[in-house]
Amino acid sequence: MQYLIFKSQIKTLSQHRRSLTRRVSWQCSCLLKEVQSDRIMAGESNLDSSLLDSCIFCSIASEQDKEAKILAKTDEILCFRDIDPAAPHHYLVIPREHIHSCLSLQRKHINLIKKMAEMGKRVLQTQGVTDMNDISLGFHKPPFISVNHLHLHVIAPSSQICDFMIYKFIPGTESFILEKDLRKRLEKSEKQQNAKSLNCFSW
Ligand SMILES: [Zn+2]
Ligand SMILES: [Zn+2]
Repeated sequence: MQYLIFKSQIKTLSQHRRSLTRRVSWQCSCLLKEVQSDRIMAGESNLDSSLLDSCIFCSIASEQDKEAKILAKTDEILCFRDIDPAAPHHYLVIPREHIHSCLSLQRKHINLIKKMAEMGKRVLQTQGVTDMNDISLGFHKPPFISVNHLHLHVIAPSSQICDFMIYKFIPGTESFILEKDLRKRLEKSEKQQNAKSLNCFSW
């Protein structure tokens, strides 16, 4: 009996270690990409600046990427499946305009965020998701972004996010913010702006 308990503890420990390793390597690769892109912007790197021009989400947004299956679209935003799904339903909603990340957002973007969330929820429903309480809608915060083009993760059921990816989608961490929390921050910054005439919100 004790042997079995010991064995299961070892298993849990090694799962923790694997998940920690994945988390650290994900964070490192995100950081590296961000540093690289900053260096290109600053003109310090020999890397071709076309690397910045070739934004994969811009080519999906302009509907030039034939591989991306677009599930919903308007003139402003569109939705497609995440190529690396963390749960049975995992979609991304992006603006057609190239916006770097949620840190680039200002109060004028509140409506855009709302529309992105609405589209995400609509797609979930058309894909057969019925429990709208068990969903997760959120953004990664730089430097923890895989693609430098604003994208809303739309995930369902959020209770079924796979164990080895859950660390990427924990609300309120340094890497992930829920859409509703982001909107609250932007709305708060709007009030601050009215009071202090600030131009963008701070974290
Ligand atoms: Zn882009
Ligand atoms: Zn992301």
